[in-house]
Amino acid sequence: MTTTLSAARLAPAHRPPDREGVERAARDLLTALGADLDDGGLRETPRRMADTYAELLTPEPFSLTTFPNDEGYDELIVVRDIPFQSLCMHHVLPFHGVAHVAYLPAERILGLSKLARVVDLFARGLQLQERLTTQIATCLQDELRPQGVGVVLEAEHLCMSLRGVQKPGARTVTSALHGLVRDDPRTREEFLSHTARRAR
Ligand code: ZN
Repeated sequence: MTTTLSAARLAPAHRPPDREGVERAARDLLTALGADLDDGGLRETPRRMADTYAELLTPEPFSLTTFPNDEGYDELIVVRDIPFQSLCMHHVLPFHGVAHVAYLPAERILGLSKLARVVDLFARGLQLQERLTTQIATCLQDELRPQGVGVVLEAEHLCMSLRGVQKPGARTVTSALHGLVRDDPRTREEFLSHTARRAR
């Protein structure tokens, strides 16, 4: 059985970017910032900005292929250190880091790369890290119906590094746990030990 995850269904608040509108607005923004758009280096910048935002804000739909759990695998499946990047909805500056995603299978299992795809699907939007974490976990819970799901995100927010409090290197950690990953102490402990930061 294959389920196709439609980005529109999963992220209903999201409209695809209006590229021409973004290019016009970028021109206005740059002018308001004092830039001279006749400067050779800036001439193509509004178009580049439109391309960049379109890329960063357009989620890629994909097929969430699941397989029957014929072997009855019943231990935690963890993919650590999935790199991701997103844009913070408060400052429209990037935040980036790694996601650790786990599930405890029930009837079905999932291709491992799909866990990274789900992270990307929700990261491509104007986001809050807290909401991104919850959306990834809820999606896996709803689509896969496992015995449990765990998601931990660690990210650096450029709006904290470059401006405001200016604390480069500070990382924000968020988590969302469902089912036995939340309620069974042994499973929870196992998940959290996988996601604990290694000494570097
Ligand atoms: Zn921000």
